Amino acid sequence: MKNENLSENKEIVNKYRQLLRVSKWSREKGDVIIIRKAFEMAMESHSQMRRKSGEPYIYHPIAVARIAAEEIGLGTTSIVCALLHDVVEDTDVTLDDIREEFGDKEANIIDGLTKISGVYDTHSPQAENFRKMLLTMANDVRVILIKLCDRLHNMRTLEHMSDKGQLKIASETNFIYAPLAHRLGLYAIKTELEDLSLKYTQPALYQDLKHQLNATKEQRNRYIRSFIKPIKVELEELGVNYEIKGRPKSIYSIYSKMISKKLEFEDVYDLFAIRVILDSEPEDEKMDCWNVYSIITGIFKPNPERLRDWISIPKSNGYESLHTTVMGPKGQWVEVQIRSKRMDAIAEKGYAAHWKYKQHKNTQESSNSLDNWLKQIREIIENQESNALDFLDEFKMNLYAKEVFAFTPKGLLKKLPKGSTSLDFAFDIHTEVGAKCLGAKVNGKLVPLSYEIQNGDQVEILTSAKQKPNKDWLSFVKTSKAKNKIKQSLKDEKRAVASIGKESLSRKMKNSGFEYTTQNLNKLVRFFDVDDELELNYKIGSGTLDKEKIKLHDILIETKSVHKPGTDRRETKTEKTNPSKELIIGDASINFDYVLAACCNPIPGDQVVGFITVGGEVKIHQTNCKNAQNLMSKYGYRIIKARWADQAISTEYFEATIEITGIDSLGLVSKVTDIISKQLKVNMKSISFESLDGTFVGKLKLNVSDKHHLEQLMSELSGIDQYIKVNRVALEHDTN
Ligand code: MN
Repeated sequence: MKNENLSENKEIVNKYRQLLRVSKWSREKGDVIIIRKAFEMAMESHSQMRRKSGEPYIYHPIAVARIAAEEIGLGTTSIVCALLHDVVEDTDVTLDDIREEFGDKEANIIDGLTKISGVYDTHSPQAENFRKMLLTMANDVRVILIKLCDRLHNMRTLEHMSDKGQLKIASETNFIYAPLAHRLGLYAIKTELEDLSLKYTQPALYQDLKHQLNATKEQRNRYIRSFIKPIKVELEELGVNYEIKGRPKSIYSIYSKMISKKLEFEDVYDLFAIRVILDSEPEDEKMDCWNVYSIITGIFKPNPERLRDWISIPKSNGYESLHTTVMGPKGQWVEVQIRSKRMDAIAEKGYAAHWKYKQHKNTQESSNSLDNWLKQIREIIENQESNALDFLDEFKMNLYAKEVFAFTPKGLLKKLPKGSTSLDFAFDIHTEVGAKCLGAKVNGKLVPLSYEIQNGDQVEILTSAKQKPNKDWLSFVKTSKAKNKIKQSLKDEKRAVASIGKESLSRKMKNSGFEYTTQNLNKLVRFFDVDDELELNYKIGSGTLDKEKIKLHDILIETKSVHKPGTDRRETKTEKTNPSKELIIGDASINFDYVLAACCNPIPGDQVVGFITVGGEVKIHQTNCKNAQNLMSKYGYRIIKARWADQAISTEYFEATIEITGIDSLGLVSKVTDIISKQLKVNMKSISFESLDGTFVGKLKLNVSDKHHLEQLMSELSGIDQYIKVNRVALEHDTN
């Protein structure tokens, strides 16, 4: 026991020293004393705690601080806060203690971090938590940066969690933390979060891809070497110091490419990017990048549509780089990224890397646009009227969106999410300009409100004092800001109409001898089947509901004893499912209600997860189902572990949908149906074939007994000819 403590203490000191080493560059005189004080406080307050792995708890905060310093490049304040990020939540140390020992700044950041984590274990919907998190984040970006470090370390050590906890944390990570890291320009962290998330949500697939990537490594490296060789020769002549390397894509990006483009591993495994990093003086870096561009495109022909110039106009998260895609040896497209050392640091480490290069003029511009972005987020969150879930979806969309840039008539540059319309542009200028927007002139030509902004457009907004937002606008605006402002304005208008309705309803009630009480109103709301009091009053105010025809006596007196059937029974059902237990699907001895989700149609053999719906039944999804991941990250507490019974129910059949694509040839449809119905005796529920210019797409709904059965069938079908591709697909959209 004593020995163990000794070696643990030694390890703690070791880890602490490593932390000091990696934070050296950012420290000023006296900083070590402050960091040491934070370390000792964390050490002492966590001294009795252990992690799930059995390790001393203090390993975690030290690791988080190290990620902050080493992988994001944060300074002393952040290191201190990372060391102390769990003390207020988990130990007796208070915020006041921290304020006293360290200062206001530190106390505020730790307060933010505590608020984020404090809400996770409660049963409030995750979306609401995210909203709180974003609100805190908008005050000091370091809160979210440290939170990302915390999440990264938790993901790196996730194997010690229970399966259910793993799924929840991994889905949440993929759903919000990876996009956040992306938006903040932390590409290295984003990639690692995505890969780790896949590792836990789809372990078998992840291991398979990893294995296949390894197996093809040598082949890839050989190609990269042959691609680089002629470039090196000419770069030497240019006389700039450089580094050139080839990087394979991450497992997650290979996976998403396979899914989104419906490709096989063989079609994507050789994707990689060549990166040329130049050691240039700040004043030469742009010119050097373009010189290298011209050298490379002199050797290999570029695809003119794939030139991305983020050195003239950086992305709003600060990303600067020059990308081109060229035709390499053996007829293969290769993406080439050209950037300076400074740009590379920013690309990998993001925001904080700016601080290392303070002297550079572009830095000012980029951190300004990040500030603007945070200001926008704050505005959206504070003004938001929509419910938390809508908000989250919209917010996420904006995180991932690609950007377009356009100019005002005076030449001011505006960056907007790709797909933004002239109306979004108007709202971006000012809320009032958006609300009064009639149309726009783009490059001198009149366009409608729904015109999609293109890169380089010059946009002049036309307004009218009589214009006001209407509901149709919501169908084409893209930005959260525009959406929220329009919704807010519509709601204000609705409230005004509702208040007229309320007045006349309450007058009518008073005249008939009823009081305007919540109880009475609830009866009316139920009777007319409207959402709420506001809706009821609005309908009366706008005349949709004729108040003369409301028979108050009938509704308010006679419906007294109406009892909605079934409500009580439902609740007991929920209890019986016992969320902490594992559901074994198809085991007749366990009695519970479940349905197989229509969005992903799980069949025996698929990895599945249960999800308790609002109605109290359990829906079984595949763990890789987009809807399920969405739900799991938003309502982690409703997840229920599930697996198929070992003895699959052999008499039952499950529905699966597959898509077949290929080159149209005579008799193909009959070959397909032949294999399915005659050779394999599978029951087809529906079949549709469409052909277009010599290619075809077929969709087949089949009844199969399990995954093995389906896979057997799919491999038979892909054997028909070499151009046929068979994929399992999800068909319907399911929201709960
Ligand atoms: Mn933590």
